[in-house]
Amino acid sequence: MTPVQPTSQVSRTLSPFGTTIFAEMTQLAVRHAAVNLAQGFPDFDGPQLAKRAAIDAIEAGHAQYARMIGVPTLNEAIAHAWRARTGLEADPDVNITVTSGCTEAIPASVLGVVSPGDEVVVFEPFYDSYRACVALAGATARFVRLRPEAPRTRRRGFVFDPVELRRAFSPKTRAVLINTPHNPTGKVFTRSELEQVAELCVRHDAIAICDEVYEHLTYDDAPSHVSLATMPGMKERTITLGSLGKSYNLTGWKVGWAIAPENLTKGVRAAHQFLTFATATPMQHGAAAIIRDGRECIDATRSLFQRNRDALSAALEALGFDVFRSDGTYFVMADHTPISVRLGRDDVRDDRGFCAWLTREIGVASIPPSAFYSEPDAGRSFVRFAYCKKESTIAEAIARLEKLRHHLPERASPPGAHVESSTLRERGISA
Ligand code: GLN
Repeated sequence: MTPVQPTSQVSRTLSPFGTTIFAEMTQLAVRHAAVNLAQGFPDFDGPQLAKRAAIDAIEAGHAQYARMIGVPTLNEAIAHAWRARTGLEADPDVNITVTSGCTEAIPASVLGVVSPGDEVVVFEPFYDSYRACVALAGATARFVRLRPEAPRTRRRGFVFDPVELRRAFSPKTRAVLINTPHNPTGKVFTRSELEQVAELCVRHDAIAICDEVYEHLTYDDAPSHVSLATMPGMKERTITLGSLGKSYNLTGWKVGWAIAPENLTKGVRAAHQFLTFATATPMQHGAAAIIRDGRECIDATRSLFQRNRDALSAALEALGFDVFRSDGTYFVMADHTPISVRLGRDDVRDDRGFCAWLTREIGVASIPPSAFYSEPDAGRSFVRFAYCKKESTIAEAIARLEKLRHHLPERASPPGAHVESSTLRERGISA
């Protein structure tokens, strides 16, 4: 008798998404004792001020469910910080909902305001949960691709085609899901780019769900971060998402939030109450303390990450990677083709193979960005490195990456001469 194959018990909606690439690459990093520049989390402790306040809250007996919308002092601290950064008013009880990390705020927003049959405009590469959340809502994603700028400048950024953006909107568009500063490209959307998004949202009466978890992580030489909610016509139609984890190096605390006008907040809370109901009470007290008084922590983090970004980008470039500009977040993207072609192995030609090889043979883990594209092939020549680490960790990663040189044949011709990078391919030019 032929044995019956066990059928997958994963739902039809979720089975296409498999296991997230972050879990997969961290597991691979652990298996090979690699320096983990894959999943974006700091390898150092969070600020003492936050820890003390959370411990005090535990000691004081804050052991039961928090208020569904957030512990009052945290909602107040978030409203105050929002006002200080954007100049926009937010009523702590009416406009702010605390969630279990931004990763909960994303489905709470999407499920809360998007209905089956709606369309959602999504910039790609995207944070992997966006697409799954759109599918969970029974909606259809319409993608707008961010592509490397033409190679005029040394370090190129990513841009979108305004015509493609306009075409992604239709009478069915309910929402646009945007992330600035942008993971994984490191792009910071400029004011004029956000104006184009805003204009289309207003014209199509669409809601913007704007993930701004890296709001504080933009660097000295980069455009400053602009909140989409501050653009004309957007305050009343934008849900802005934020996170404690990214600005204060507390990713494991899982505290995030959604800031929105009252009618959209109703949607967010309609979903939040059934997703998690509330977020861990003591962590919310710790979060309130650091958001109120943690400016120094943000400044120190930003200058550490800027040094790391510069060191890692320069090292990758010296090895021959085509490195893109990281204006914000704590990620840098590179085109690995100049390296992978020279390795002369079939199994490293695409991003998954290259990242697996780099983890195994060089001892540095990274993320293959094809997981962030509607058509995975569009990301096959890229690799994403996280630089939210101690300076010594980045130094160790750079030392290990140097070993790459031993795997590369002697150059017979100038760097890049035989390389077909993604940009050249996209422009139909084969070097
Ligand atoms: N935001 C983090 C990253 O992009 C990881 C989040 C996660 O592990 N789900 O690497």
